[in-house]
Amino acid sequence: MERTNSWGNYGKKQLTELEKLCKNYRHFLDRGKTERECVKEAVHLAQDAGFRSLDEVIKKKETLKAGDKVYAVCMGKTIALFHIGSKDIEKGMNILGAHVDSPRLDLKQNPLYEDTELAYLDTHYYGGIKKYQWVTIPLAIHGVVVKKDGSVTDICIGEREEDPVFCITDLLVHLSGEQLEKKAAKVVEGEALNLLIGNMPLADTEKDAVKANILKLLQEQYGIEEEDFLSAELEVVPAGKARDCGLDRSMILAYGHDDRVCAYTSLEAILDMKKVKRTACCILVDKEEIGSVGATGMQSRFFENTVAELLNCMGEYSELKLRRVLANSRMLSSDVSAAYDPEFAGAFEKKNTAYFSRGIVFNKYTGARGKSGSNDANAEYMAQLRAAMEKHEVAFQTAELGKVDFGGGGTIAYILALYGMQVIDCGVAVLNMHAPWEIVSKADVYEAKRCYMAFLSE
Ligand code: MN
Ligand code: MN
Repeated sequence: MERTNSWGNYGKKQLTELEKLCKNYRHFLDRGKTERECVKEAVHLAQDAGFRSLDEVIKKKETLKAGDKVYAVCMGKTIALFHIGSKDIEKGMNILGAHVDSPRLDLKQNPLYEDTELAYLDTHYYGGIKKYQWVTIPLAIHGVVVKKDGSVTDICIGEREEDPVFCITDLLVHLSGEQLEKKAAKVVEGEALNLLIGNMPLADTEKDAVKANILKLLQEQYGIEEEDFLSAELEVVPAGKARDCGLDRSMILAYGHDDRVCAYTSLEAILDMKKVKRTACCILVDKEEIGSVGATGMQSRFFENTVAELLNCMGEYSELKLRRVLANSRMLSSDVSAAYDPEFAGAFEKKNTAYFSRGIVFNKYTGARGKSGSNDANAEYMAQLRAAMEKHEVAFQTAELGKVDFGGGGTIAYILALYGMQVIDCGVAVLNMHAPWEIVSKADVYEAKRCYMAFLSE
């Protein structure tokens, strides 16, 4: 059951397609470093591909029919796209799902302080991170500040060549004897993740003059005052662009492959479908990294409500019909897999592990401690998918996250499965998952999009 490296299967035409997709993907990553930015970018791409806002359709009391393409956004952080098929929607949809939030450091609500003439922003990390990986690297701040009058100021500092960047300091090695004796989880602690943002005092100021100067600059450059941090969502992420990785340029090094690599390829797949029989759907959600909670997470009713609205616009809404549409749907719940890393071979079981460049990864189940928390896909569904992948000549592999009882992880799969639909976990293999800079194989990015298009066309 050994799978082969996909690079050998590509001719000139495919290599050109692959490079184009990966270039566009890098561009998407550069423009989308937060869930809000990703959704904004997804809306642009969808509009360019002829998708209309479902809210507009509702407002104008228009009717939707086969061939129509619409999208709906929840609070700027989650998006659902639909391409209505020629087949009765009651027979179910083909759904692609992925998440657009990534591990990062969020600014606290009261973040700004000064200590010994250095000004800092205090953070609270989001998602699972190895804290020691986030010190001494250039960091950027992305997000929004919403003022009392409701006006929204977009913030993005640290991405342009001329921008300043920020940093979390670490102790010099010369004095680190004691620190290096600590467990890795304790070398840098959560409360110590404070972002250095200034050292220049404001003239004629007695107390906290460096902080005062930072506040002056924030006022001048963004029109915001200290209280405005209370209603802000500011995310600290690695500064810099996604890059080709390797002398052979076979990989991409970037922040946020988890899970934008599945989100972007899912989005590209639905945007590229010329015609579909079964209604195609793509949902890109927020909050997966902290348990899919909140109005913009997968557990929210947003998706179900949006499908109800869609049916209503098609003149087909009933409570029973909604339930049938959902129950008869099939889903690829896409999230990244751990790629086999020979440097840490002991964490993997080689027969059931994902490898770079061997194609899209299907995880029949995920979970931890005896599959706990997993959506274990049906064998019948896996059989259909195997057949579809073979028919469309998509490179695929199957894997578990790592060795049994080494740990584990969850995804959004079990939430959609609550409707009684067929759901399976799949995705792209990643090295350094959840590190500031993660790596994927370009061949796997290419196969992911091919897999999603094959799935939508079935
Ligand atoms: Mn993920
Ligand atoms: Mn993750």
